[in-house]
Amino acid sequence: MEVKIEQAAQRLAEAVRFPTISHFSMEEMDLDVFSSFLGFLKTSYPLLHHKLERTLINGYSPVYRWPGKDSSRQPVLFLAHYDVVPALEEGWTHEGPFSGVIADGLVWGRGSIDDKSSVIGWMETFESLLGEGYEPPRDLWLALGFDEEVNGGNGAQKVVPWFAEKGIHFEFVLDEGGAVSDGSMIGIKEPVAVIGLAEKASACFEFIFKGEEGHSSTPPAHTSLGCMAEFIYKVERNPMPARLTETVEQMLQSIAPYMPGIQSRILARPKLFFPLIRPTLLKNKQTAALLRSTVAFTVSHSGSAPNILPKEAVCTANLRVLQGETSADVLAHLQKLTGMDYEVRPIAVEEPSRAASTDTAAYGHLTGAIGRIFPDAVIIPYLMAGGTDSRYYEELADNVYRFQPLRLKEEELALMHGTDERLAIDKLADMLAFYRELLVTLN
Ligand SMILES: [Zn+2]
Repeated sequence: MEVKIEQAAQRLAEAVRFPTISHFSMEEMDLDVFSSFLGFLKTSYPLLHHKLERTLINGYSPVYRWPGKDSSRQPVLFLAHYDVVPALEEGWTHEGPFSGVIADGLVWGRGSIDDKSSVIGWMETFESLLGEGYEPPRDLWLALGFDEEVNGGNGAQKVVPWFAEKGIHFEFVLDEGGAVSDGSMIGIKEPVAVIGLAEKASACFEFIFKGEEGHSSTPPAHTSLGCMAEFIYKVERNPMPARLTETVEQMLQSIAPYMPGIQSRILARPKLFFPLIRPTLLKNKQTAALLRSTVAFTVSHSGSAPNILPKEAVCTANLRVLQGETSADVLAHLQKLTGMDYEVRPIAVEEPSRAASTDTAAYGHLTGAIGRIFPDAVIIPYLMAGGTDSRYYEELADNVYRFQPLRLKEEELALMHGTDERLAIDKLADMLAFYRELLVTLN
């Protein structure tokens, strides 16, 4: 009994119809919708809900345990999230963002890719394997987040201590992240399956500049606002130094065989040729972000009237910290380069994740399954600039990998948090085939 793909597509469309929009505070969330979604999973996947142990963490994060033949062996954990980012009502080809329409061989709506496809993908796979009487060799776990899009403070960050308390340590964790990108990525003609080994950290700080309050007819040489502007100017013109981390080195080495002639020989030894490849990588903002911690100014406020000197000017910066550095290192760099007087107030601070290893049985198992389901794809480990729930699970696992088995074109990847998010049914079929392959070949 293989998964019937039409039925899986119907279920994904139905999943999309729940507007499970997450917010930082649970009070702002329409929690009834989240409960209804969990109820929908229960009725749609009866065998799974009958045979697996299910624990609800913090009310809305279900954690499932599928007991294996030998529960004393190291278990494996799969992650997915069923919350979504908000969507504009207008501009959708097929009705609104939560209509869950199936048309032209596609499932339309917010969450059809990110990340309800994974939720439904795992559910369908588990349900059908249970129906076949399949028994995993060791325990399999599945944990669903309900606020991944807003940092997982009430979901993942509550699930992790629950596992920690039980003393469970996973061989590996698999979450969303990389995908199979169809089309020219990083100059390679072949489709590229990217596996996220690590994530940069996101850290937000406010920088506060003090000035004299008073009448603007007799101004000092520098107002608080002027100082803030000078600070931003200096920081933007003096980015952090570029460095080659181990993950990016591995990424470049994996790309090398697919590049033409001399480029191939250079990329095969990224450390040696770093001075040569650095300028090219820094020219593109995507690849530049892989080489350094970045600082982006995102919010500022100051002043109350056109003729009053502002007492204070405040700007917020979002730091994305690269492996090998801490947010404190970046702050020290800013202080040193500007030499200015300001106060720093942390808003939300995280540090970079540990990089997963490619030299493990789990990575071999993962890439083996990718090779069989996406035989034309080149497999490349990479560093993610964005974040997923999986970063919180590091302490619970030997390695954390980030890969969603969907073959997507660049324009489809771009739809993820935008209008007309949609997933082709045949791509959902690949996903189901991959999850099945990954499970049945687990030893
Ligand atoms: Zn996601």
